[in-house]
Amino acid sequence: MNQIQRLFDIDPWKITTKTFDKQNRRLQESLTSTGNGYMGMRGNFEEQYSGDHHLGTYLAGVWYPDKTRVGWWKNGYPDYFGKVINAINFLKLNITVNGTIIDLATIPHEDFHLELDMQTGILTRRFTIKLADATVRFNFERFLSIVKKELAVLKVTAEVITGAAEITIDSALDSNVRNEDSNYDELFWEEKDSGTQGDGTYLTVQTIPNNFGIERFSVTAMMKHDQPALETTPAPLGISQSFRYEAKAGETIYFEKRIIVLTSRDVPEEDQAMKAYELMTAYSESFDVLKEEQVAAWKKRWELADVAINGDPAAQQGIRFNLFQLFSTYYGDDERLNIGPKGFTGEKYGGATYWDTEAYAVPLYLALAEPKVTKNLLKYRHNQLPEAHINAQKQGLAGALYPMVTFTGIECHNEWEITFEEIHRNGSIAYAIYNYTNYTGDQTYLQNEGLEVLTAIARFWADRVHFSKRHQKYMIHGVTGPNEYENNINNNWYTNILAAWVLRYTLENYRRFEDVATVSIPQSEQDQWEDIFNNMYLPVDEELGVFVQHDTFLDKDLMPVTDLNPADLPLNQHWSWDKILRSCFIKQADVLQGIYYFSDQFTLEEKRKNFNFYEPMTVHESSLSASIHAILAAELGMEEKALEMYERTARLDLDNYNNDTEDGLHITSMTGSWLAIVQGFAQMKTDHETLSFAPFLPSKWESYAFHINYRGRLLAVTVEKENVTLKLVSGDAISVTLYDESYELADEITVAMKD
Ligand code: BGC
Repeated sequence: MNQIQRLFDIDPWKITTKTFDKQNRRLQESLTSTGNGYMGMRGNFEEQYSGDHHLGTYLAGVWYPDKTRVGWWKNGYPDYFGKVINAINFLKLNITVNGTIIDLATIPHEDFHLELDMQTGILTRRFTIKLADATVRFNFERFLSIVKKELAVLKVTAEVITGAAEITIDSALDSNVRNEDSNYDELFWEEKDSGTQGDGTYLTVQTIPNNFGIERFSVTAMMKHDQPALETTPAPLGISQSFRYEAKAGETIYFEKRIIVLTSRDVPEEDQAMKAYELMTAYSESFDVLKEEQVAAWKKRWELADVAINGDPAAQQGIRFNLFQLFSTYYGDDERLNIGPKGFTGEKYGGATYWDTEAYAVPLYLALAEPKVTKNLLKYRHNQLPEAHINAQKQGLAGALYPMVTFTGIECHNEWEITFEEIHRNGSIAYAIYNYTNYTGDQTYLQNEGLEVLTAIARFWADRVHFSKRHQKYMIHGVTGPNEYENNINNNWYTNILAAWVLRYTLENYRRFEDVATVSIPQSEQDQWEDIFNNMYLPVDEELGVFVQHDTFLDKDLMPVTDLNPADLPLNQHWSWDKILRSCFIKQADVLQGIYYFSDQFTLEEKRKNFNFYEPMTVHESSLSASIHAILAAELGMEEKALEMYERTARLDLDNYNNDTEDGLHITSMTGSWLAIVQGFAQMKTDHETLSFAPFLPSKWESYAFHINYRGRLLAVTVEKENVTLKLVSGDAISVTLYDESYELADEITVAMKD
C-alpha cells in the first residue's frame, strides 16, 4: 500500500492548514490551485518566495509547439510536442517592511493560515511577521472570477500590531517565466508592448516563433490598483508599479490589484490593450460586490453538482475537491477548449486533450451540465476530423486516428509506444458518441457529425486489423492497451472488443440513417466490416473464466501486488521501466475498462471472475484507475474494496496517493469520485435508453445525496441507511427502475434499502 501524505485538514468545504510547509511547498501549491476555465494558477504566494516551489500561471488554449526531440527518429513521429506554457505571472508583488523583504522562506513569522474555500473559489492566506521594530499581520485574498472570466482580483491588508512600519509594494506583470517540465529552459515569450492605457498598466507579449506553422499567441495583461502608483517601471518582459505606506500600531493598510487578461484567441493583438481597458472600466464593481457575484455563481454550480456525504468527512472533502477543481478547469463555456490532465495546475503531460475526456469526463458532464456541454466536447473532435485523418495517414493507415495528446487534432505526443500503439483511444471517441446519444436521446448529432466521425474511425480499425489464416480470426497486433505498463502486445482484449464494437455500432447506425447520412459506405465495405466484427479474435481463458488481457499475459509470472515489498510502490518511481514492462503489474483498468464500457453484455459472474483475477495485480498508478474499480466492486457487492477505491480516487491528490501531486493535480480523473458514487454506489445505469438505480450505502456512511440531469429532468437521489428516495425536482414524470422494480416518477418515491 502506498504511503499517503495529507497536508490539509479535513473540512467539508475548505482546503486549509495552519502549517507553513517549506518541504512540501509544491504539493501545497498544487492543492491550492484556482482556475475559472479561462485561466488559472497554482497556489503560489503573491509576494516573493525564495524557497523551493513551482511558479505556474496558465491560460486556456495558449500553448507552444516544441520540436520533437528523440534519440532515433522513426517515421510517423509527430513533428512537434505541444506544451501548455507558463504565462504572465500577473499576481506578482514584492513587499518590504522597514526595508526587509517579505519572503516566508527567510523571515520569521507566525500564525500562518492558508485556506481555499471550495464553496466560493476564494483563496486566503495570513501570517504575522515579527521584526525588531514592528509586528505586522498580513492577509491576502484572491480569486479568478467565474462570472467575468478575464478578471482576477487580489486584496492585501497589512495590520501593524506593534511598532511602526514603512511598507513598500512593487506590483508587477512578469512574463520572464519558464516551464518546469521539458522546456529545456527556454523562454516562450517575446515582449511586444507595455505601457499605460487610461489608468491601467499593461504588458503585451507573444509566443516565440515556431517552425510548424502554428499560430503564435499574443497575451495582454492589464493591472489597475486602488490608488495611483508612485512610479511605473518597465522591465524586460515585464512592467511594475510601486506603492509606499506608513502605518503605526493599530493601523491597517489596504492594497488592491485587479487584472484583466486577454489573448489573441479572442482579441487581435493590436486591440488588446484598448479592450482590456474597456473591460477594466466595465468591471468597476467593488471588491465586495465582485466577491458576492463569485459566491453566488459558485453556489449555483454547487446546487446542481454537490454530492453530500454524511458520516465520512474525508470522503466528503474529497469529492468536493474533485468537483471544484474539475469545474475550475472546464465548465463547458468555450467549445474550442477541452480538459487537460493537469488543467491550470501544472505543466506535466504537456497537451490539452486526452482520451480521458471521452472516457471519464463525458459521463459526468452528461449528468451535471446541459447536453450542449457534452455536445461541444463531441464537436471538438468532429472539428478535428481532418487532422485525425492526417494522423492515420502518417501511420500509413486509412480512416481517422484521433491523437493521444493534442491541441489541434494533430498528434503531439512523441513516445512511439503511445503515439503508434495506444490506439484504443480511437474507440473511446466513438464510445462517447454512443454515450451522448444513449443518455440524452438526441439522435441528431449521431445522424450528422457523429456518423462522419464513426465512419472515419471504423475505417481506421478495418485497416488496422489483419486476418490470421491459422486462427481464421481478425487480430490487432502491436498495441499498448490502457495498461501502459506493457507495450507492443498482441490482441489486447480491450482494444479488440472496442474495435469490433465501433465497426458494429457504425454499421448499425449507418443503416438506420443511410437516407440522411452525409457519408457513404459502399456495400463491399459494409460486408468487410461485418466480417471483421463477427470474427474478431477475443482472447479468453475458459479454465480461469477470464478475458485475457493479451496473447501472452497468462505466461507472465503472475502474483498479487500484496506480494511486493511496499517500499517498491509506486513501481514507476522505484523499478526500471524494463522490469515494469516484463512484470504482471497493471497500471490501470484494462480488461475491466472494457467490462465497464459494455457492462450490459457481461454476467455478474463474468464480472466477478475478471475483477478477482485482475484487480489484485493492479497497482492503480494511473489516476484513472481507481474509479472504474470502485464502480465494478460496488456492482459486485464488494463494499470494502469499493470504498477503498472510492477513497483512492476521491483523495488521490489530497492524500498524494501516487506521490506526484506536487507536479499538479490529476484533473481528468477528478470525475472519478463522482463516477464511483453515482455509477458505483448508486449503480445508476442508462443502458438502452432506460434509467435505473440499485444503491448501496457504505456502512460507515450515514447517507449520500446527489442530483442528475436526465433528459430534461432534474432528479435528486438520496441514499440513507434504511431508505432510498428519488425525487423529481423538475421536468415531466419519467419511468425509472429501482432495484429491478419499475416506477413512474412523478414526484417522489421512497423504497427500503436492499442488501
Ligand atoms: C494514463 C493514460 C492517461 C494519461 C493522462 C496516463 O498516466 O495511463 O491513460 O490518458 O495519464 O491522464
